[in-house]
Amino acid sequence: MGTQLVWFKRDLRVHDHAALAQAAAQGPVLCLYIIEPSYWSAPDASQRQFDFVRECLRDLYRQLKACGQVLHVLTGEVTEVLEQLHQQQAFSHLHSHQETGNGLTYQRDLAVAQWCQARGVVWQEQRQHGVVRRLPSRDVWSDHWQQLMAAPPVPTPALQSAQWPWAPQAFPEWQAWGLPTDQAPERQTGGRSEGLRTLHSFLQDRSSQYRGGISSPLSAETACSRLSPYLSWGCLSLREVVQATEQTLRAPSTDAWTRKGLNAFMSRLHWHCHFMQKLESEPAIEHRNMHRGYDGLRENDWNAEHFERLRTATTGWPLVDACVTMLQHTGWLNFRMRAMLVSVAAYPLWLHWREVGHWLARQFVDYEPGIHWSQMQMQSGTTGINTTRVYNPIKQAQDQDPQGVFVRRWLPVLRRVPDTWLFEPWKMPPSVQAQCGVTVGRDWPLPVVDLAEATRSAKAQLHARRNTAPVRQAKQAVVDKHASRKRPEGTRKRRPPTAPKAQTTLDF
Ligand SMILES: Cc1cc2nc3c(=O)[nH]c(=O)nc-3n(C[C@H](O)[C@H](O)[C@H](O)COP(=O)(O)OP(=O)(O)OC[C@H]3O[C@@H](n4cnc5c(N)ncnc54)[C@H](O)[C@@H]3O)c2cc1C
Repeated sequence: MGTQLVWFKRDLRVHDHAALAQAAAQGPVLCLYIIEPSYWSAPDASQRQFDFVRECLRDLYRQLKACGQVLHVLTGEVTEVLEQLHQQQAFSHLHSHQETGNGLTYQRDLAVAQWCQARGVVWQEQRQHGVVRRLPSRDVWSDHWQQLMAAPPVPTPALQSAQWPWAPQAFPEWQAWGLPTDQAPERQTGGRSEGLRTLHSFLQDRSSQYRGGISSPLSAETACSRLSPYLSWGCLSLREVVQATEQTLRAPSTDAWTRKGLNAFMSRLHWHCHFMQKLESEPAIEHRNMHRGYDGLRENDWNAEHFERLRTATTGWPLVDACVTMLQHTGWLNFRMRAMLVSVAAYPLWLHWREVGHWLARQFVDYEPGIHWSQMQMQSGTTGINTTRVYNPIKQAQDQDPQGVFVRRWLPVLRRVPDTWLFEPWKMPPSVQAQCGVTVGRDWPLPVVDLAEATRSAKAQLHARRNTAPVRQAKQAVVDKHASRKRPEGTRKRRPPTAPKAQTTLDF
């Protein structure tokens, strides 16, 4: 067989790497990662993700070196890079994992397929997630997921190297592209070694906090697994995380409380692919409403000032501004706080999800297009099949940060504000403002809008739209395509005791 080119994408590991194993079985291998300028200058990409990927690649380099291989990194658009390489060192096969990415990577993959066809190169793509290409019906989805996750991980293959035609290229600096800098100084570190450390610390220690700890932004930092960036960039395979979790669930030393938490965690590993499947089945949901009956609801009302206040952590609602500040510094937030930010954007601030989604995508080191765009639409009420969830940021602060520890940590200016006024500083009497040294309107912004009134008006507009006949009639088609399935009673399959429950509500 001829030279086998392995194209690493969002699968930055050697272990359980089906594409690498397939390549190794067919001949001498070349391993390549391509830094695509068009990808990194897109509105959903950012330096913090780029820096994380660079760390993943360093780690991948070490993993491949241990197998006697070199990771080659080239910069350029994929078909151009493939063409140049093919001219120097013809390869017969291209190997990669399937990717459920944004519109740009989808178009790029179409171009790669065309290029392969024109050059007579065979492109073999492998599955790495429970996402199914050309899924005939959502009814069979869960069985596909179970099968893939139950299969043994692919062993690291013995690799034979092919000849690389060029000297190593320098890794490009982000600044060289003239794009906005954005470093997230407290973000997680990239790479499989860090991913494995995070997985082990979660399963062996932190998972006991999962139940009861994942909603408050204070406890979530350690109670959540923190595996999202390692799953999004493929430093860990989803299957190895599923199987390691099952093993911990079976261990006699795992107590009942932790076991409940781990079962909830397993459900989320299921959701990971369930949400990605939505984008795979309907790539257009990155750009347009999942339920077309909501078209025009917010699109023409874009309010640049509202967005600016949200983006710059100056809404005047302390929990919202604290979350945005944390996100700027760390590139991560727990689910509830992400949902609250989108809810605040979509309801009281009445912002369409698309621009807000780009901004948040850039903030998230773990940006995963399939999860992200599905969630953006779900939390904005444009799927037409989910219950409308409107998070009140003042109530959320009272519930999730009752002592104001989180708010004071991220917003030093409010540290001396007494508990009574901390979540609604604008209500603070002038004498208290003078006492604590915070003048509202000068040191702390007035709320961007009247929360109660703006939320009422938003809900009324959404409900009016939802109650129209065309919107009600079109709902079933969205359910058929995207909603999870409840098996009819009597046909329910027996699950092994540790497997997650199938997603049974329309909310997922
Ligand atoms: C508006 C919005 C945008 C989001 N964008 C992303 C994104 O770009 N990338 C991303 O990985 N997650 C996204 N999420 C889902 C979720 O918030 C994160 O997966 C989670 O906070 C990551 O932290 P963790 O790994 O500690 O989570 P854990 O609770 O430990 O969950 C483990 C894993 O399960 C998956 N998962 C957890 N919650 C969800 C969920 N609700 N839907 C789908 N999969 C889930 C993730 O892969 C996660 O790493 C988004 C949520 C919202 C509301």
